[in-house]
Amino acid sequence: MYFNIMVKITNSLISFKQGLGIMTLELKLTLDCPRCGNKLTLREYNKYVQLYCDKCNLSVTIRKRIILMRHVDYDDDVLDWSSALDFLYSLLKGKATASY
Ligand SMILES: [Zn+2]
Repeated sequence: MYFNIMVKITNSLISFKQGLGIMTLELKLTLDCPRCGNKLTLREYNKYVQLYCDKCNLSVTIRKRIILMRHVDYDDDVLDWSSALDFLYSLLKGKATASY
């Protein structure tokens, strides 16, 4: 079930009207992979949101629920993708430095 999905992309700032649907969404971002410097891709599928690098395979996947709990302004019914992305990116950076 999804309503009006509005995707506005300005550099890596994405605002996304709530109503995350069944479709798989993939966006190439302007964010650099913290490990290899390649551009990252954001993928949304089923119950998950994933930020990954298609070059070195560094990735982080979290449940959409987490994003919805942390980054939705329920007064305006708006999902704040830029803060969600910051969150995902910080997880990815943690992973890049933790392993190896
Ligand atoms: Zn990479």
